[in-house]
Amino acid sequence: MPYNVPDIEPLESILPDEPLLMMGAGPVPIPARVAAANGIVINHLGETMARIIDQVKAMSRYVFQTESRHILGVAGPGSAAMEMAIINLVDPGTRVLTVNNGFFSSRLGEMARRAGGDVMEMDAGVGCAASEEDVIEAIRTHRPRVLTIVQGETSSTVFNHALPAICRVAAEANCLVICDAVCTLSTMPLEMDAWGVDVVITGGQKGLSSIPGVSLVAFSDRAWEVIERRERTLTHWCLDARLAHQFWYNKSYHYTAPVSGILALHEALRLVCQETLPKRFDRHLRCSRALQTGIEGLGLELYIEGPSRLNSVVGIHLPEGLAQTDLMQHISRHHGVEISGAFGANIVRIGQMGEQCRAHHLFRTLHALGASARTLGYQVDVPAGVAALEKALERYTPVYA
Ligand SMILES: *Cc1c(COP(=O)(O)O)cnc(C)c1O
Repeated sequence: MPYNVPDIEPLESILPDEPLLMMGAGPVPIPARVAAANGIVINHLGETMARIIDQVKAMSRYVFQTESRHILGVAGPGSAAMEMAIINLVDPGTRVLTVNNGFFSSRLGEMARRAGGDVMEMDAGVGCAASEEDVIEAIRTHRPRVLTIVQGETSSTVFNHALPAICRVAAEANCLVICDAVCTLSTMPLEMDAWGVDVVITGGQKGLSSIPGVSLVAFSDRAWEVIERRERTLTHWCLDARLAHQFWYNKSYHYTAPVSGILALHEALRLVCQETLPKRFDRHLRCSRALQTGIEGLGLELYIEGPSRLNSVVGIHLPEGLAQTDLMQHISRHHGVEISGAFGANIVRIGQMGEQCRAHHLFRTLHALGASARTLGYQVDVPAGVAALEKALERYTPVYA
């Protein structure tokens, strides 16, 4: 035989003995039920699968706050769901307005360009949410058929709080809105039907606290009509929404569905339904605000100010001289906690999505952050930070429930 068996280490010797606490910008920790479901394989076309798919769609309608009959699962990352939305609605020459707040929003623009779209990018400005006025102006000059926007820009930790108003002005201009809610769905309100969002995209591994690799896209009737009327045959086969509809609505074969991942997603959605959205939004708001208060209590500065600050992923400005990679490495090695850096700005990011929003995780993470910064020679007040976190958790009054 020409090739030798490679020298391979078993996973146990590569992975840490105790799993790291995943407090970065995703993937996030998953509940035990989600992990258990992910270990099961069933027939992808049988009666059991049909019942599970029906429930996944019913639960998705609740989580997306929609009556849409065009909710599809995608075997792939959040980016595959983004691409499914784009390539099914953007034809060569379609005018697209991309609201840009950072890495993921500009990825939507790049996908639309690759699909042949005539894309205008509207930069919201560093650290700023998009304003309704700027969108009105951009719609007037570019006259787009499709507008892309992120609800929460994970990379820059910016929150597009004007999304409902932007959807209204887009609808008046007869323009479809594609909204990326990968990090925000189920962590804060997003009312697909009431706000008039035409396409909502989400991944598994962030707000929903499921596994990476199975994602969801919900299309409005208005968006679906465009897809049904399309005469062109898409070059993409896996991401063709009309073909995917065959599996999600007619129990027939498109490709072998990622059964284990769908079971995991079922469990993640079921836990959302069991908790209910208002209680889940309150849990997220309480934890994220308390974490932010704790970070300021340490003496560190938050990256984004005011209403543009995203709660699902919190950006922290690092003091002059403290490198994000050194801090992250220290936190990981000495405290078993993973947080994220960022491209460009010298910030670190702590996620507040799904299972990350638990008080005990916050104490461990804030302590790890403060103690590591102190060990690396920076003045931070760890006890003051932890006390501020505790007080803020205690003082929270529910907003949604
Ligand atoms: C993570 C993320 C994505 C991409 O998801 P992948 O699963 O990495 O492809 C897209 N948009 C936002 C807002 C995200 O946070």
